[in-house]
Amino acid sequence: MPIDPTLPYDEGNIFARILRGEIPNKTVYEDEHVLAFHDISPKAPTHVLVIPKGAYVSWDDFSSRASDAEIGAYVRAIGLIAREAGLVEPGYRLLANVGEDGGQEVPHLHVHIFGGKPLGPMLA
Ligand code: IMP
Repeated sequence: MPIDPTLPYDEGNIFARILRGEIPNKTVYEDEHVLAFHDISPKAPTHVLVIPKGAYVSWDDFSSRASDAEIGAYVRAIGLIAREAGLVEPGYRLLANVGEDGGQEVPHLHVHIFGGKPLGPMLA
């Protein structure tokens, strides 16, 4: 079910549990502000989720409340992870689902990095 974007941050969401170390993940990158790991149900040969360590529900929440340091670290990490995965050539896709119409399932901001094959005009 897509999330209700009006609800407050849910400390029990799956990515909050990953950040607390309660659930294992396949980490590809970590710094003070950011964690990135392989999606459990990959939709492309490379499918990585990049999350801020702070408690932000969505891109909307993050872009309105996060510090410049958090935003800078997040944007730089996404680019670095894609580069280090060798995706810059021939290319890749970033996706952040937001709220109900966006189809967001997990109520902790995450950007998907897809790559490793021609992705076509849109992913389903
Ligand atoms: P959303 O639809 O943008 O919210 O995407 C949520 C993503 O989280 C989906 O692609 C899921 O496959 C992924 N996911 C859910 N649980 C886990 C997990 O425990 N580890 C890694 N990825 C997960």
